[in-house]
Amino acid sequence: MGKIRVLDEQLANQIAAGEVVERPSSVVKELVENAIDAGSSTIDITVEEGGLNLIRVTDNGGGIEAEDMETAFQRHATSKLLSDKDLFRIASLGFRGEALPSIAAVSRVECISSTGEDGLARRIVIEGGTMSAAEPANAPQGTDMIIRDLFYNTPARLKYMKSIQTELGHISDYVYRLALAHPGTAFTLKHNGNTLLRTLGNGDRLQVIAAIYGTNTAKAMLSVEGEHPDYDLRGFVSRPDQTRANRNAMTTIVNGRYIRSFVLNQAIMQAFHTLLPINRYPLTVLDIGMHPSLVDVNVHPSKMEVRFSKEAELKTFVQQAVQATLSRQVHIPGPSSSG
Ligand code: ADP
Ligand code: MG
Repeated sequence: MGKIRVLDEQLANQIAAGEVVERPSSVVKELVENAIDAGSSTIDITVEEGGLNLIRVTDNGGGIEAEDMETAFQRHATSKLLSDKDLFRIASLGFRGEALPSIAAVSRVECISSTGEDGLARRIVIEGGTMSAAEPANAPQGTDMIIRDLFYNTPARLKYMKSIQTELGHISDYVYRLALAHPGTAFTLKHNGNTLLRTLGNGDRLQVIAAIYGTNTAKAMLSVEGEHPDYDLRGFVSRPDQTRANRNAMTTIVNGRYIRSFVLNQAIMQAFHTLLPINRYPLTVLDIGMHPSLVDVNVHPSKMEVRFSKEAELKTFVQQAVQATLSRQVHIPGPSSSG
């Protein structure tokens, strides 16, 4: 008999979790993305102790059907890819079917979900790779994911966690980006009982900017819009005199997904050109829409790095749109300026 064997499922999930669940913010990211994909109009996020004790994401989306409750936690199980062609036109935030089994491999999970159809919810508990049978529960339409004791069974990973403040910083940073990307969804984020973010979900992106960066900052933003046969762009950039010491306040959204793009950051910086003092960065929120076939999101498990099929063309478009806004508005004194 040979020496090679196929890993059992719990072990395979734990290995995948090493990649998918780097820290508490990865769990928040995956759960909130699932809530958005489910069409939720409200998403409430509660965390305790930087997410290591508790991460709870409650949504009012479409819910999980009773017969799917157990399948949802299996590896490569997804409702978002139906055919191999779908991989080249991904419209949802998730598609890999890896998040739930990976999270369940390194934490204690309780999931309560209802599609609202038979007026009944189902509850399932997963611990150490063992799943309880789905049982009836009482809950409104939507999904309630409760993740306790993250990394309790992977001590090496737990030891690597930074301070509660650092972990919370990663969580809030990601929730802020998702709230900026989805102004039509009402988000709340609470940590140890304190409310860190509340957005109204009325579609007004300036309200989200105000909730994150403050009302005065929001009031001074300049609106950016652009149209192109392949792309549309809307969003806001700060006035060149409202700068920051780093790039953290530059948010780029493509088809509802917060992404990191060196090239698009470069396009924005080049649009500001000499208007920015050296080593200073603008606050920007740019939301770009394009046909899903023009962007490959299947580059990395976190789906934050993407590849654009016409990168140079997109770069020029973004740069010109931001430039147009700046040249139109920059010489007009802002509301808070005295001159
Ligand atoms: P993916 O998002 O890549 O499909 P996940 O492991 O994150 O994979 O989720 C597996 C499946 O569970 C999803 O495809 C979806 O059908 C279901 N699901 C997960 N979270 C939710 C939710 N909040 N609301 C409704 N369905 C959900
Ligand atoms: Mg997912």
